Amino acid sequence: MKEEGGVEGMAAEHVAEKTPSQCCGMFLHCPTQNETRCVLFDTLFGTNSAPILLIDPDDDGAIVDANSKAAEFYGYSRETFRTLHVWDINTLNRSVLPVMREISSWSGGHYPQRFRHRLSDGTIRDVQVYAGPIELVGQRLLLCIIHDVTAVIEVEQFNRLLLESVNVGVCGIDTTGAFTFVNPEAVSAFGFLHESEVVRHGILRFLGEDARADGEPHPILRVAATGVALHDVDCSMLRADGTVFPVRVVASPIRVGDRVEGVVVSFTDLTREREREDQIADLINTLPGVVFQAEMTADGHLGATYFNGAAKAFFGLPEGADLTSPAILSSLVDRAGSIELLRSLKASALHRLPWEREFQIRGPGGGKWLLGRARSRSRANGTVVFNGVLLDITDRKGLETRLEEAALTDPLTGLWNRRRFEQVVEQATAHFVRSGRPYSLVMIDIDHFKRLNDQFGHVAGDEALCRVADVLQHRSRQSDCVARWGGEEFAILLPETGLALASILASDILLQVADIKLATADHVTVSIGVGELAAGEEAHVLFRRVDAALYRAKANGRNRIERA
Ligand code: GH3
Ligand code: MG
Ligand code: MG
Repeated sequence: MKEEGGVEGMAAEHVAEKTPSQCCGMFLHCPTQNETRCVLFDTLFGTNSAPILLIDPDDDGAIVDANSKAAEFYGYSRETFRTLHVWDINTLNRSVLPVMREISSWSGGHYPQRFRHRLSDGTIRDVQVYAGPIELVGQRLLLCIIHDVTAVIEVEQFNRLLLESVNVGVCGIDTTGAFTFVNPEAVSAFGFLHESEVVRHGILRFLGEDARADGEPHPILRVAATGVALHDVDCSMLRADGTVFPVRVVASPIRVGDRVEGVVVSFTDLTREREREDQIADLINTLPGVVFQAEMTADGHLGATYFNGAAKAFFGLPEGADLTSPAILSSLVDRAGSIELLRSLKASALHRLPWEREFQIRGPGGGKWLLGRARSRSRANGTVVFNGVLLDITDRKGLETRLEEAALTDPLTGLWNRRRFEQVVEQATAHFVRSGRPYSLVMIDIDHFKRLNDQFGHVAGDEALCRVADVLQHRSRQSDCVARWGGEEFAILLPETGLALASILASDILLQVADIKLATADHVTVSIGVGELAAGEEAHVLFRRVDAALYRAKANGRNRIERA
């Protein structure tokens, strides 16, 4: 821009003279023009609350004048200012000059520009400069109104850093769907490397609008249209390569007055989360049992909140059954069983211990045996949440029962063995103490068994043992305990049975044994001792009495009964 010759001359002079005057900013040369300009500047801007500088871009960016606010802000006197150039305060140094010239060439309006300015004490401040051409006393200068925006920039930088450091995608859009900003997480979620690649597309490119089957606008666009915010809505977006990915979205409208000017969208890419959920579901569904979650309220009510897909088949329930219904527990477990389950769950929550229980559920064939294991977590409202598994241990339970029975069974005859018999005697004695109802004991010994063995061999002996055992088993009642006491001796415990009834059973046995037709040997007979537990009597005393009675039966000719 070319100035008038006079002014140009004055400007050159001014550069050469750049000396502060002593009286209210007037220059030594061309005092009239300078004085007028000075007075004019003072009148116009002297009391302005913003720092204002008057710059001559064509005079190497010389600072022509400055108001008192500028003097205060920069820490230079008005006189010192007049010795300075814009590059003395602008950190761009001399490279600011082309910018200054560019701005001064604009006609009309002041345009905000951000610069960094150096104060007299060396401090750097971020400033927004509203600069525009002004004609003062025939000279075209640049008027610069300075706003200190250091604090604003700090906040902006903080916001920018914040947006960059979060691991959610954040972007701003205007009502047309054009991006106003996109953070790095959103850029990478969309499958791009740099913000500039994303910004050139609108958000529609990433919402898969064309591919929407329901014809409804994407929930994010609804926010722009209606101004109603979205909170944690699960939907999907499109990546650069066209693949769909699941997201959870929060979208808030930007309002200016009543108008919605745009939307701030933040979204979490749920791809990894969904993958993990699928993996967990796979793991859960390969378990040979059931995974459950249950809640126990503070007042002790238990209800299932989750069962995996395999649960219905596992419990033998129809497809339509509601496993989270409160009635489900009582349909699977009897009253005593459910009370016991509740009690054990409460205890584990109270003592913060893992819960573990074996229990039987109703079902065909006696129902399954289950092993339940769970861990509890307490919520602030007093509810306890149990996360656990139920495993089918019916086979193991069956095996255990069989092994237990095997350990208590005589392998030759199939009767209970002496160990089991002693357990039963102990229980029956305790029951007698409580109920006052005595049991009776019958001891049976095969007569001349040694002779039978010797004459016909051990196979014949074993056959005799088995046949006698069968008689004892068949002739006694379900509640009686029949055992092989050892060798060729047997014992029967008849609970809540007196001597008279026990003697009748003994007589029956005697007759039935005598009827046995052995394949390998002659007939077989037994001698029997019978006794009833007396009040206050200990079991071993009864055994001694019955044993003595048996001895008497032997002594009195065998194949007979003697009462103890
Ligand atoms: P008594 O009429 O006085 O009872 O005479 P007994 O011969 O029956 O009595 P004893 O106690 O002398 O003989 C018992 C025999 O039973 C001795 C033993 O070899 C035999 N025995 C013990 N256990 C078995 C077994 O499991 N199989 C066979 N075949 N014999 C057995
Ligand atoms: Mg014997
Ligand atoms: Mg014998």
